[in-house]
Amino acid sequence: MSANLLELRDVTRVHGTGPVAVAALAGVSLRVRPGELLGVMGPSGSGKSTLLQLAGGLDEPTAGSVVVAGVDLGAQSRAGRAALRRQHIGYVFQDFNLIPALTAAENVALPRELDGVRGRQARSDALSALRAVGVDDLADRFPDELSGGQRQRVAIARALVGERRLLLADEPTGALDSHAGEAVLKLIRARCDAGAAGVLVTHEARHAAWADRIVFLRDGKVVDDTGAESLLEDAS
Ligand code: ADP
Ligand code: MG
Repeated sequence: MSANLLELRDVTRVHGTGPVAVAALAGVSLRVRPGELLGVMGPSGSGKSTLLQLAGGLDEPTAGSVVVAGVDLGAQSRAGRAALRRQHIGYVFQDFNLIPALTAAENVALPRELDGVRGRQARSDALSALRAVGVDDLADRFPDELSGGQRQRVAIARALVGERRLLLADEPTGALDSHAGEAVLKLIRARCDAGAAGVLVTHEARHAAWADRIVFLRDGKVVDDTGAESLLEDAS
């Protein structure tokens, strides 16, 4: 198996055809290894969310290939891709996307249950994932009984429950105040230090400074690929 948890090989995604065609992503290649957090920056419309959706198997490239844990997503059936996604990939969204009618533990257990894990085991997996992000004492609360920062922790637990080690986060601090935002980034960093591979989309330089490497996108292309240190210097 490849040592990369995620690899994009010359990936292009075109929306529409003819004169209205838009290349949301144009020939992007990148790799992320276990333990590594990759930052993705770029102006609005530069292709950041498209990149993440392709990496997560939620969208398909027009050309090129996406390889997750050594498996080419394009060579899988729709069902095979869904299974691979459930086993390996966790998604964290800007607005948490928790299901309001389910408790924190039930939200986190849901992907396990969808994967055929029995109820008792799914709950136990959910409690471990909640413990790992420091909110297991909130397991039986509903989303509207949690603060924004607590909700995002639950969303991260849901993204990592089970054996999933590829964490894809699209502006995960967007709905949080700066204190809660920092705490969430610290947590994502810690999960990567513990062996997950992460991709963090952000437009804030001080957030991207948590990443090991940063890819800058413009008009769907990588315009720069740099270490975080130089960016930190620029931001200070
Ligand atoms: P970002 O997340 O960096 O703001 P996106 O990946 O959302 O950028 O979008 C990149 C480009 O692709 C934009 O020009 C956007 O309008 C276009 N785009 C994204 N999704 C679609 C779609 N479903 N249909 C048509 N164009 C799209
Ligand atoms: Mg976006």
